[in-house]
Amino acid sequence: MALITFTDQGLYCEAGRFYIDPWRPVDHAVITHAHSDHARWGSGHYLCHHDTLPILRLRLGNINTQSVAWGETVYKNGVKISLHPAGHIIGSSQIRIEYKGEVCVVSGDYKTEPDGISGSFEPVRCDNFITESTFALPIYQWEPQDLLFDKMGKWIQNNQQEGKTSVLIAYSLGKAQRILQAITPVTQNIFVHGAIWNTHKTLQDHGIVLPDVQRVTPDIPKEKFRSSVVIAPPGATESSWMKRFQPYVTAVCSGWMQVRGNFRRNNTDAGFALSDHADWSGLLSAIDATGASKVFVTHGFQSVLSRYLNEKGIEAAEVKTAYGEEETISLIENPDEI
Ligand SMILES: [Zn+2]
Ligand SMILES: [Zn+2]
Repeated sequence: MALITFTDQGLYCEAGRFYIDPWRPVDHAVITHAHSDHARWGSGHYLCHHDTLPILRLRLGNINTQSVAWGETVYKNGVKISLHPAGHIIGSSQIRIEYKGEVCVVSGDYKTEPDGISGSFEPVRCDNFITESTFALPIYQWEPQDLLFDKMGKWIQNNQQEGKTSVLIAYSLGKAQRILQAITPVTQNIFVHGAIWNTHKTLQDHGIVLPDVQRVTPDIPKEKFRSSVVIAPPGATESSWMKRFQPYVTAVCSGWMQVRGNFRRNNTDAGFALSDHADWSGLLSAIDATGASKVFVTHGFQSVLSRYLNEKGIEAAEVKTAYGEEETISLIENPDEI
């Protein structure tokens, strides 16, 4: 019996009678991270990392949960479960499961470059590895975060000199917290959209150290925003909410910005190819480091990556899941993300 099977509800461990990131309500869910496509409403019990828990509660309400530290062991019906850093967003974890000598790792979403807030991706040896493939094309090669943050800082300074507000478009969970590291050396005058504020406050209250930011509210006079930095989720940009920041310039922070056509498509002035996912080399090195004899490739460019791995002599197969690409900018926004 395979340790993980792919069902209509999600990734299922029959021996342990639990699901990993199920997309339908189940009795027992083990959650890689709190993005809404991986952590869904309606399950009877959730197991996740300590730092994922407050965001799960914020988004899913009063749920029945158990949280653990990285490397801590939990047993469910004899199946050994442990969580290991995935480097994607705060709390994001790979799920390692072991039963009768067989080891399987479900990586959820992951990023191999340490970003200073999400934990450092830990390669975990296993027999079967389930990988995402969001940016699994050779064209996706990220510049180091330091370089991107440097460019971001210069862009903000340039806008300040022109008396313009810098509006950075970033997902409310993950990117919005990460880019603060690029902004705070340049200015402390930082405003955030309500959705980002909620996440920010929740993480701060939980003890995660983040710089203080101000929430954009209707009573703030327009002059206050002059030359400031505003962080807004995708979806807010098309709305009248933006008018108060005039004059402003926008920049989208997303791996998709590596492809220049996406600037135009997103109607943005600038773009920073900053991703919370592994690039092509990151995916290949992460997969290699697991030593897995079989790799299952989920959401993204599954066929490209699985074909490439098979050609390299690593047995791989595509798997259909219901996970989205939370990085896809300006498309359908989850209401709870705004
Ligand atoms: Zn994610
Ligand atoms: Zn994902």
